[in-house]
Amino acid sequence: MAQKTVLIVYAHQSPGSFNAAVRDVAVQELTELGYRVHVSDLYAVDFRANATRDDIIGDLKNSELFQYGEETMHAWMEGRLGDDIVAEQRKVEEAELVIFQFPLYWFSVPAIMKGWMDRVLTQGFAFSLKRMYNNGIFKDKKAMLSFTTGAAQTMFQPDGINGDINVSLWPLQNGTLHFCGFQVLAPQIFWSPSHCPAAARAAMLDGWRARLRGLLAEKPLTFAPCELFDLSFQGGFQLRPEVKEERRSRPFGITTGHHLGKPLPPDNQTRAQPSEENTPGCRK
Ligand SMILES: Cc1cc2nc3c(=O)[nH]c(=O)nc-3n(C[C@H](O)[C@H](O)[C@H](O)COP(=O)(O)OP(=O)(O)OC[C@H]3O[C@@H](n4cnc5c(N)ncnc54)[C@H](O)[C@@H]3O)c2cc1C
Repeated sequence: MAQKTVLIVYAHQSPGSFNAAVRDVAVQELTELGYRVHVSDLYAVDFRANATRDDIIGDLKNSELFQYGEETMHAWMEGRLGDDIVAEQRKVEEAELVIFQFPLYWFSVPAIMKGWMDRVLTQGFAFSLKRMYNNGIFKDKKAMLSFTTGAAQTMFQPDGINGDINVSLWPLQNGTLHFCGFQVLAPQIFWSPSHCPAAARAAMLDGWRARLRGLLAEKPLTFAPCELFDLSFQGGFQLRPEVKEERRSRPFGITTGHHLGKPLPPDNQTRAQPSEENTPGCRK
């Protein structure tokens, strides 16, 4: 049987950083567990962040109006994507789990990692309009965010100055990872390593090491399955009326994004939900 593979997409400039330490713990622990670990060190290879015409080898389908998404879809089908993109796509194909390791930049990933997402997760390879979310192309794979912050945890709570971290994580976890079908594992958040004592940093690394041992067996986060929606253009890809009706008396929204004007299901984007209470509501 082929050795199972984990891909770490890594974005930090400094080998002495806390992010580098977190990456090294993951490589060591997962290797000891028997996984083959690939690291895409984006700054080290000077990974290009810009999605441009240079990503397509040969002629464009429509040179009058350059449409990156269309052109890269055709280039993917015809084997005409740039070599750096193809190399990353091969690593994704092989991986059972993809870990994105980065410092939080402006509530999101650093630009170089956003560029990886823009350029590697092309239409056809990573999604199609027929295959998305829980029916997505990578539905048999897992992915997770592992990141450091400058802010303390209290600042990213619903009553903290930055607002609820669950809201901040929705675009990356739902809009990118789950959109491509990945089962998204709860994020690993290292709160403010630059502003805490050395002992606290050591404890964070120990916690990560312990989590890694059971990571692949973890239950993923909860998202609203496609089956709750009318997946037609006439239906506007909206929640089916009977689902809305069924949810009317429930205390919480379905997910952070599908909140239906109700309180958000607690920790929807940071913790796998233990009970049925917050799972999407298609009681059959
Ligand atoms: C453009 C930009 C945007 C930003 N936006 C945000 C934002 O939106 N929200 C937010 O919260 N923050 C933001 N930040 C802050 C950023 O997220 C933090 O600076 C970053 O996450 C800190 O992680 P680091 O790996 O760079 O820490 P480092 O500064 O590299 O490390 C922290 C400490 O850990 C020590 N260390 C290194 N290795 C080890 C080890 N093995 N064991 C123990 N200690 C070790 C280091 O020596 C250092 O003292 C932003 C920063 C930038 C530059």
